[in-house]
Amino acid sequence: MRLSEHEWKAARTIVSVTLAATAISFVSIWTWAHIDPVLTLRRCYEAAIVMPLLIAPLCSFGVQRAHLKVRKLSDQNEHLANHDELTGLSNRRAFFARAEAMQSRMGAVSSVFACAIADIDDFKRINDQHGHDAGDRVLKCLSDILAGIAPPDVVIARLGGEEFAIAGYFASEGIARFWFDALVREIASCQPAGHDVTVSLGWCVAQGGENLSTLLNRADRALYASKAAGKNQAGKAERGPLRVVAIA
Ligand code: GH3
Ligand code: MG
Ligand code: MG
Repeated sequence: MRLSEHEWKAARTIVSVTLAATAISFVSIWTWAHIDPVLTLRRCYEAAIVMPLLIAPLCSFGVQRAHLKVRKLSDQNEHLANHDELTGLSNRRAFFARAEAMQSRMGAVSSVFACAIADIDDFKRINDQHGHDAGDRVLKCLSDILAGIAPPDVVIARLGGEEFAIAGYFASEGIARFWFDALVREIASCQPAGHDVTVSLGWCVAQGGENLSTLLNRADRALYASKAAGKNQAGKAERGPLRVVAIA
């Protein structure tokens, strides 16, 4: 049986509380026995050591068990608050928190910060033809593919429905372009959950002063341009008036 970090901490606390209780009890009874000559020293020492050794671990165990339960519930709550239940990916709220934290490092790193929205093409058709459960399986499978190919410095989230957001640092704009292009091709080639699925994607590179919402808006406009241009492709949004270059 492997103990978690929290369980080890609880076990260490129980041992520390027991030793501390025994020591405190021993010192106080030792002092008392020297003041009151009626007490036999042997009985005092026995009581000083045996009683805390019995009582302290029991009380401490009860407290630690309650503490672990609260800790587990709070971890579960945090997971539910930050993850999408169906796919296990980060949800919109966690995406904003993580991506904004990442973006705040801009300037300190030499790479470019890129943001993208990917939307499954004709997803309604999959639901209509194969049922909602099949649609759910596609969403899960596609999320696993996205999580599997994401570089370490990239956050991927399900924004809602069949829409995914991607944000992170890439060594250069060219590398970002290559990666988004590869992502679209990868999904088109690997038939998530046994269905022919493609995605359209819009992306952009952060310029100084742009916040994440602005970036997502730009990526969204590029996404719609990719859809309009025939789907199953990635398009980059330039800053300012919409100019999209399809790359796949
Ligand atoms: P487009 O290529 O223009 O994006 O077309 P589309 O069919 O993908 O887009 P549309 O907005 O017409 O339909 C999206 C569908 O996604 C409709 C909705 O029922 C389905 N959907 C949204 N969330 C879920 C979900 O959690 N599970 C399943 N199975 N379907 C979902
Ligand atoms: Mg769609
Ligand atoms: Mg959509």
